[in-house]
Amino acid sequence: MMRTHYAGEIDPAQCGDTVVVCGWVASRRDHGGVVFLDIRDVAGIVQVVIDPDATTGADPHGIRAEYVLRVEGVVRDRPDGTVNAELPTGAVEIAATAVEVLNAADPAPIPIDDRTEADEMLRLKYRYLDLRSGRLQSNLRLRAKLNTALRDALGSRGFLEVETPMLIASTPEGARDFVVPSRLAPGRCYALPQSPQLFKQLLMVGGIDRYYQIARCLRDEDPRADRQFEFTQLDAEMSFADAEDVMSVIGEVVGAAIEAVTGDAAPMIERLSWHEAMARFGSDKPDLRFGLELVDATEVFAATEFRAFQGAAVKALRVPGQGDLGRSRLDGLIERAKQLGAPGLVWMRVQQGGMLEAPVAKFLSEGEQVGLVDVTGATPGDLLLLAAGPRRMADHVLGAIRLDLGRPPVGEGGRRLAWIVDFPLFESIDDDGRPIPAHHPFTMPHPDDLELLEHGSGAELLDVRSLAYDLVLNGWELGSGSVRIHTAEVQARIFSVLGIEPEVARARFGFLLDAFRYGAPPHAGFAFGVDRLVALLAGEENIREVIAFPKTQSGADPLTGAPTPIEPAQLRELGLSITKSKQSGQSGRSGPLP
Ligand code: ASP
Repeated sequence: MMRTHYAGEIDPAQCGDTVVVCGWVASRRDHGGVVFLDIRDVAGIVQVVIDPDATTGADPHGIRAEYVLRVEGVVRDRPDGTVNAELPTGAVEIAATAVEVLNAADPAPIPIDDRTEADEMLRLKYRYLDLRSGRLQSNLRLRAKLNTALRDALGSRGFLEVETPMLIASTPEGARDFVVPSRLAPGRCYALPQSPQLFKQLLMVGGIDRYYQIARCLRDEDPRADRQFEFTQLDAEMSFADAEDVMSVIGEVVGAAIEAVTGDAAPMIERLSWHEAMARFGSDKPDLRFGLELVDATEVFAATEFRAFQGAAVKALRVPGQGDLGRSRLDGLIERAKQLGAPGLVWMRVQQGGMLEAPVAKFLSEGEQVGLVDVTGATPGDLLLLAAGPRRMADHVLGAIRLDLGRPPVGEGGRRLAWIVDFPLFESIDDDGRPIPAHHPFTMPHPDDLELLEHGSGAELLDVRSLAYDLVLNGWELGSGSVRIHTAEVQARIFSVLGIEPEVARARFGFLLDAFRYGAPPHAGFAFGVDRLVALLAGEENIREVIAFPKTQSGADPLTGAPTPIEPAQLRELGLSITKSKQSGQSGRSGPLP
């Protein structure tokens, strides 16, 4: 072994011992005579002292930051008054007897220091240097610990880890595929998996019973703070199981993983229906760490003279004690509401005596003003914000403003986990009156809503519920799952409601429909984003901080230069030619098919 100890593990018990550590020079203080080096390795940092009269075999004044060293020396207590309580090894230092420069280093183009924020592009271009920082080291360690805990928790519950292929036919998760042209079948392409969805269902038909995989998934959607092109999901599926079984097992597994990583007791998981989440929080991924709940004031304005509230759902947000919010902040909120799709946002200040002060107050009857104060529970000094229009829009707008006004920073306010159940089967109805599925099209409709699904049309179909459930942590959607359709008849019926012609369904999913004819067990499953869970547990706002080699916001990798042009010879081999190259800049389509 080149070393006897890790730098970060030197402690007072070793005083008097000769040790050898290897690592990088994190910092160096050259006082002309004595030279102090902080040596960093995977375990932490230790101070090395090269005394002026020591013959160590290296010129201590020539050593620079990030040089790679092997240092032999004697551990000793630091002199009185020089103990560094911030550093785990801060009570000791190593008096060097031999220093070997294993490699020199150019000056680092980014600071390798947790306290300074370097430019994002530079951090990604020199990711291998960024990875030396304590922040990324501890995030990656946390991630590995989480993966191990997930494997343990699932393995001990009878789940089998199975790898599914990366080169596949398109999966139906609703985003754009990344495609890989085939050399042996020119003109044809594989798709990279958006999820292992169809394969895990086939595993159930294959009798695997309980499957899981820590799966890489790829979706060509615009990256953002909680989304990268490539991401990792904990993907699972169970046979002879219903929604309750899946929620119970996944809840235990997530709880066990959180406990293993943080040492904190597994948080309790609340449960809300989709309707309740939308009505109270204006979001299907409610952040339950704070109040500011939305209130339905529609009834109060049932007979109103005020045009903007007539025939509309009126939702209100009571912001306690914010009645003195300035005009520019209020204008900012109105602007935000408009960006979110609302025609406007009505604000009112609650005055002493309970009357309202607002530009629109003169349009509201006294009964309406009293009713509004009553239904919101407002008291003098509060601010009321109201959005009116189609219910989903009003909820959505106030839900977003609620987050703007009250959301605690990531890592604060505890961990609030919730299952959101009874999702609508369809997200919206397109211009041709065709429903767009809220999840993938293999989701089982709610048995009580089959009649409506069969005979309903247009907007009525939005009331059809599915047996789908999402897991939400502090306002982040961790993942989703559902009971699956397992008979060819129901699946064909859903394809037809979605307007997918039988030939198209056969061409794309014929193999699944065929498999369903050979004894598919009832099955249900779930998948959640490992990157997101790690980011939340690490207190990071951006999942890039918990991925070793992430991409930028525009999907580029400044380190390797990807995506790069390919050689004409490669194109010829693949039977491809580039007609013109243009930036697409479009976001991922919604709705999975065709
Ligand atoms: N395949 C789904 C997804 O990736 C999760 C599931 O339904 O199991 O979102």
